[in-house]
Amino acid sequence: MSEKMPVLFVGHGSPTNVMEDNEYSRAWDAAGKALPKPKAVICISAHWVTRGTLVTAMDKPRTIYDFYGFPPEMYEMRYDAPGAPDLAEQVRRIIKNTEVKPDLDWGLDHGTWSVLKRMFPQADVPVIQMSLDANIEAQKHYDISRQLKELREEGVLIIGSGNIVHNLRMARFDDSAYNWAIEFDQRIANWITQNDHDPIIHYEKGDQAAALAINSAEHYVPLLYTLALKEENEPVEFFADKVMGGSISMRSVRIG
Ligand code: ZN
Repeated sequence: MSEKMPVLFVGHGSPTNVMEDNEYSRAWDAAGKALPKPKAVICISAHWVTRGTLVTAMDKPRTIYDFYGFPPEMYEMRYDAPGAPDLAEQVRRIIKNTEVKPDLDWGLDHGTWSVLKRMFPQADVPVIQMSLDANIEAQKHYDISRQLKELREEGVLIIGSGNIVHNLRMARFDDSAYNWAIEFDQRIANWITQNDHDPIIHYEKGDQAAALAINSAEHYVPLLYTLALKEENEPVEFFADKVMGGSISMRSVRIG
């Protein structure tokens, strides 16, 4: 029996964090070192939104450069972790409340590889991605993820990768944060700490701060996949907690 694997949510922010030495990339280095070595990783990234839920099932997922106008070295980086077709098959089997289809086209987008390259630089842990179905409600995302709980017992690390507050339209190039961004981020942090997931799931009932913070929601929803895997009495820790660029929360969560 493997040790029960913690679950992570990572606020990934800019793709360039992977090549910079900053407080976030250092937090990812440390978070990787603090974990027991996983048998495999399942990443639910903000950058893979599809019709229906898909899971990558190829042997060798490619590194996807899903960003524009970044320095040339960003396009030379690779993350050659193997895939895990057997795990993809297992995910398809254990998720019973929706049909999960195998995918052979995607690979690892920057929501996944920019983080994993820092956490597991050897690229020796197999990785699969599971997509976000564009057409389902937040509660359904949460319910899909709950079914993955047993994989934690088998040493599989599940990571949601997004940003709790993510409004690129309002982003600015300095380190200050909008008040509404700080307030919303803090509100979510409190609910996480209090183990009160309902108001986090039903964010659409929130106020103006919630509407501005969550915006198009694909960066927020991966958090629901992480929280759904939490047991009642498990410890929670934040390994980053700053709002940067005005409107991007880098808050990152470790459960267990
Ligand atoms: Zn992103």
